[in-house]
Amino acid sequence: MQLVVLMGGLGTRLGDLTKAHPKSMMEVEGLPFFDYELFLLKRAGFNKLLFLTGYESDEIEEYYGDGSNAGVSISYCRDGEKLLGTGGAVRRAYDVLEDEFMLIYGDSFMDIDYSETLYRYERAKRNGATCLMTVMKNAGRFDKSNCIVKDGKLVLYDKENITPEMDYIDYGISIYQKKLFEDIPEGEAFDIARIQHEQSLKGNCAVHIVNNRFYEIGRPESLEEFRGYIRHRFYEAHPAVFLDRDGVINEIVFNEETELLDSPMSISEFKFLPFAEEAMDIISRKGYYIFVTTNQPAAAKGKTTLENLYDINTAFVGELAEMGIIINDVYMCPHHQQGHPRGEKFLIRECDCRKPKPGLIKKGLAAYNIDLVHSYMVGDSYTDILAGREAGLKTVFIGDLKCDVCARLKYNKPDLICKSLAQFARELTDLTGNYIEEEV
Ligand SMILES: [Mg+2]
Repeated sequence: MQLVVLMGGLGTRLGDLTKAHPKSMMEVEGLPFFDYELFLLKRAGFNKLLFLTGYESDEIEEYYGDGSNAGVSISYCRDGEKLLGTGGAVRRAYDVLEDEFMLIYGDSFMDIDYSETLYRYERAKRNGATCLMTVMKNAGRFDKSNCIVKDGKLVLYDKENITPEMDYIDYGISIYQKKLFEDIPEGEAFDIARIQHEQSLKGNCAVHIVNNRFYEIGRPESLEEFRGYIRHRFYEAHPAVFLDRDGVINEIVFNEETELLDSPMSISEFKFLPFAEEAMDIISRKGYYIFVTTNQPAAAKGKTTLENLYDINTAFVGELAEMGIIINDVYMCPHHQQGHPRGEKFLIRECDCRKPKPGLIKKGLAAYNIDLVHSYMVGDSYTDILAGREAGLKTVFIGDLKCDVCARLKYNKPDLICKSLAQFARELTDLTGNYIEEEV
């Protein structure tokens, strides 16, 4: 999908700092701010970018050019004399817009699963959606909440009239159909929120709930905070714990129909194992990143939809976030080589991510600077142990090592066997020196 980037940020609140640069070009650890977002976009597979530029656009064009140095293709549409606002700037680019496009801000760092955004849009489009908004459960953490979300749908988005029922906030990534702009006269200045508000009232705005917080550089304090974050994430190595999900974090479900044990297929079937939340809290407070790596072939096998699988992850990560426990990312493999005729076709294929392959772990290793020597893969299946070993991590088996697993792991014994995630969390070395043990 075409990616349109609003690069015209004036940065008035940054005062003297932006005198020499547009906001997206602010220097952060030796690189322009937007380089970090571009890293995420390229990783997500975007390669066709349109920059809507305004202030000091020469500097942006000089640095990024046609994008070939960065391995993408970039074209430009400049604001004229008049400031057009976000909506007016997009309307001005009408002739070079594709029928559908994603819009983001050049002064925000938004590390989300963009493929999930695209999937949710495509799915909602079948039911008449004309646009999509990403939103985040706010609970007063950031700016004022301005959305109502019910049953995974955006019921209302209104920045002007805030009501007490609003508990989500717009996140800054959206998708539009070009036709939404066709009746708007060129040169009219307006905020793109107007279109989203109108479409939400018509029930035509899909939603993608995200959990990863965003970073923006609107104020000197937020720029400083982002610098700290970037140093921590990319320039200093930190250890990580990669967790398998089912049987480690949450209970495996007994399916009455098939009389087999299986993964949860909906949010209501997802139940944390005893002390799993506390264990993750301890792991995090001992100074480790937490990534979840999970094989979920149920949509490929036609047992549920990919949307349900995404919803489960969104819900449990969101629940943990509300408790102050941060999962850095969830990497899910939804593929299956054989699948089922009822399954979602595009998921039925061979992949590099299904464990025992190490692809899911490698996603984390590519996105963060990780101290491999002190990092772990924790799982309750021999495939977790093989994937962890292949990625170069220490491996931890959760549960009782039964004979069949023993045989399969003959030449790949785990480094550690623990009864539960809580036991592993207790035994894990504290790297911060300031963690105080609590009873779990
Ligand atoms: Mg498992």
